[in-house]
Formats: sequence, structure tokens, C-alpha cells
Amino acid sequence: MYKCSNYLKIIERENDYALFNSLFGGLLIVNNNVIDLLKKFKKPCSLEDILEYKDKKKTDRVIKILKDRYFIVKDYVDEYKIVQKEKKRRLGCLNKGEFIDSIQLIVSNTCNFNCEYCFMKSIYSSKERFKLQKSKDNQLMSFEIASKSIDTLINLAKNNNIMYITVEFFGGEPLCNFPLMQQIFDTYKNGLSKGVCILYSMVTNGSLIDDKIAKTLAKNGVHVALSFDSPSIDKRTGQAEAFNKMIQSKVDLLNKYGATIIINSALTKQNIDAFDVNLLFDFLNKNNIKKLVVTHELDINYYEDKKNIDKLVNKTIEILDYARKYDINVNSTWADIFNQINRDAPINLIRGSKACAGCSSKLSIEPNGETFACKSTSAHFGNIKCIDSILASHNYKSSVSRGYDNCAKCRGCMLEGFCSGLCIGSIEKKYNTIFAIEEKACRIFKDITINFIKNIKVNTDYCYLTE
Ligand code: SF4
Ligand code: SF4
Ligand code: SF4
Repeated sequence: MYKCSNYLKIIERENDYALFNSLFGGLLIVNNNVIDLLKKFKKPCSLEDILEYKDKKKTDRVIKILKDRYFIVKDYVDEYKIVQKEKKRRLGCLNKGEFIDSIQLIVSNTCNFNCEYCFMKSIYSSKERFKLQKSKDNQLMSFEIASKSIDTLINLAKNNNIMYITVEFFGGEPLCNFPLMQQIFDTYKNGLSKGVCILYSMVTNGSLIDDKIAKTLAKNGVHVALSFDSPSIDKRTGQAEAFNKMIQSKVDLLNKYGATIIINSALTKQNIDAFDVNLLFDFLNKNNIKKLVVTHELDINYYEDKKNIDKLVNKTIEILDYARKYDINVNSTWADIFNQINRDAPINLIRGSKACAGCSSKLSIEPNGETFACKSTSAHFGNIKCIDSILASHNYKSSVSRGYDNCAKCRGCMLEGFCSGLCIGSIEKKYNTIFAIEEKACRIFKDITINFIKNIKVNTDYCYLTE
């Protein structure tokens, strides 16, 4: 006997419906006929009864798809048990570091700017983390720590049959320590001689890029994420025009050598009113930049006010509308929710974390080797010099666990299998635990995901008819 899954979600669109399983995704656009067919599974019934009911061949095919995507399930099956079983398995073999496929190397905690709003001045929840941020021995990473970190990642990847790994350069301003990056490129190149494929990325304010640096970044395939909110705003110098010129000159240099450019924009309490989406997309289009990352305000108090949530949702949806028009890929943790739903496999079971990579698939390593889930989080895992202690630590275990379950309040939510809520760093700061959510902000994730779903263009692969 089969029945509709308790996790089946149906979203009505203009001319059809979207189906997905709130734990496993598998997004499918269907017409009324499929909805009628699903209604027959409201109560458990046998497939034979259904297959006799209409054109057998076509209905058979549709039912197979509905079964494969967990939209109809055997009447004794609870998919949540699948997630729990997998979580238990993972917690039982934490020491393998099975799903770690990237490291964030904080190559420099110093920065050539001193922005008032810099998130590192306010994000951390513990005094120790703030102290570490300022500590003299934790400003510039040495090659010894960098190579120990990369070798560790390579070993973990090889032990777990992971071919592609990511090394992200982060700061402060990573280009304050460009000689280290050069040494890493010279030593590891693309990783193939070590048996893996290394993808490099960097988040930078861009100001230190010169001809030599642009050439090196391009040569080594570094995805260069420039922090730039919108041409209408300059938070750093207060002189938008001068800052725009500077960014434009760096983009020109990077484009000269064919580097991959990503623009990292933040929608924050300081800039959201002045954030000009039109100007931003003109800039992206003019410079042939095809990828935009948009993050949301990290100060959790901002989400107390409903008006702020409306502003964030509206501005984000405006960005998505422009992205569709200009065919630009927009990414972020909130976009990753939809990206996971729009797959036919239970991604949270594959990758080990939902939208926030800071839960289990990434290690963030400070210049002195101290290791955390992410630059934004405070729970300490240990020092990269001893990966075994990191993988055995209570905080690493909590992080892996959070990568699966979110917290009790997420049970039954339509986004349960994909959404991590607000940044774990912000959550940790307010609640002193990572197992909490900010319920007022949930509407942001739901409204944006529904916007994505409602705007998918139907192609024949998506649409299955029963007649
Ligand atoms: S450029 Fe970035 S890292 Fe540097 S102070 Fe400003 S916000 Fe912080
Ligand atoms: S954080 Fe909110 S929106 Fe996200 S899964 Fe949990 S309850 Fe749902
Ligand atoms: S902890 Fe915050 S900044 Fe880090 S990956 Fe998660 S959402 Fe992003």
C-alpha cells in the first residue's frame, strides 16, 4: 500500500503546480492530472487499483517518478527515519572527516581598510574568539600552517574518495599576505600531482590587486570574489565615485587576464535603503560578470522588526528579477535552499550540510592554526596541527549534527531538509548555542524560495502528464 508522503509539499503556480519533499527535495512541476492522481493516495491504496484506473503505461511512468522522489511512499515508511539513520551513521564515524571538502584559510587577520561595520568587530560570541582575532601571533599565516592545513585536507579527501577540494583565502584582507598565496600556488598548483583537484577562491576588498597579482590569480584559476555592494554605495571611504573607479580598475585588470570574477554584495542595515539594484546589474553586465553572491545582515537584532524583514525580502526578490533578466547566477545560503530542493537526490544526505557550509563540510583555519567551523563562528574545534583532536571534539560533533537537523523548531517546516536559518555565527552570538533559530527571519527563507519556485520555466523534462 502507498500513500502521499507526510513531507510532500505542493506549491500552486500560475498554470501548474510544484511538488517537492521537504526532506529530500526532488522538485517537479506537474499539471492538474498529477494532482488528481496524488489525491488518490491521500489514504493508503494499492498501486494495482490505481494502475487499472487509467492509461496504464503513462500512469505507471508517473507513479514511478512520484515514488522515486518520495512524493508517494509505502504506508509504513517515515522518511525522517532515513535522515536519522544517516545522521547516526555519520556521528559514529566522525573521526574520518568524511564530508570535509574545503578549508577557509585566514591568511591575514589584518586589513588595509578599517571599516566601521566590519563583521569581525561584532560577530563573535566569546571573549576568547575576540582575543584571538587581535592576538599578535594570529595576524599573518605562515607557510608552515598553510601547508599543514592543505596537506590535512588532501589526506582527508583521499581517504574519503573526494576528488575536488576547495581552498578559500579569507581575512581580514587576504592580499595583505599575497606572498603566502604565491607560495601555495607554486607548491600545490592545481593539486593533481597530489592526487586531488584544488579549486582556489578568495574574498577580497580588491584594493591591493595589481597587474602581477591579477595575472597570478588568473593563472591559478582563483575565483576572485570582490566585496562590492552596489555602485550607489561606498561604505569604506564615503566617496562612492572614487571607490567605484578603484573597483572598476581592478575588474579591468582581472578581466585583462581572464580571471573569474564574482561580486560579493551584502544587504545590510546600513546600505539597504541606498542599495541600487539597477546600477549593480548595469555594472555586472558591462563587465561580463556572471556570478553574484548576496549575503544578508549579520546583526540578529535587525530581524526583530517586521519592516526590516519586508525590506530584505523585497530587495532580494528585486535582485532575483534582475538576475533572470541579465542571466546572472545569484548565490548565497538563502539561494542554496532552492538549489537543494531543485535536485532529485537528498542533497543533505550527500553533502552532509544544508545551506550553511559552516556546518560540517568546511574548516576555517586561523593564521596560528586554531580551527573553527567558519570565520563567523566562535565554537573552537582545536588546532589544525592535530586533526584527530578536531574530529574528536565536542564542537565539531555539534556542528556535524547541526548540518543535519537544524534544531527542534525546524521539525515540520517546508524547508526543513535544506535551510540552516540565519548565519550560525549570529545565532551563536545571541543564543550561546548553534541549536537555535531566529523564527522571525524564517519568512525570508520561505518567501524567497517560493519566489524561486514560482519563477521556474517549465520545460518538458519537468512536466509529467497522465494523459
Ligand atoms: S575591507 Fe572587509 S575585512 Fe577589511 S575592514 Fe572592511 S569589512 Fe573588514
Ligand atoms: S530556520 Fe526557519 S525557515 Fe529554516 S528550516 Fe528552520 S523553521 Fe524553516
Ligand atoms: S556560519 Fe555564516 S558565514 Fe559561515 S558558512 Fe554558515 S552562514 Fe555562511
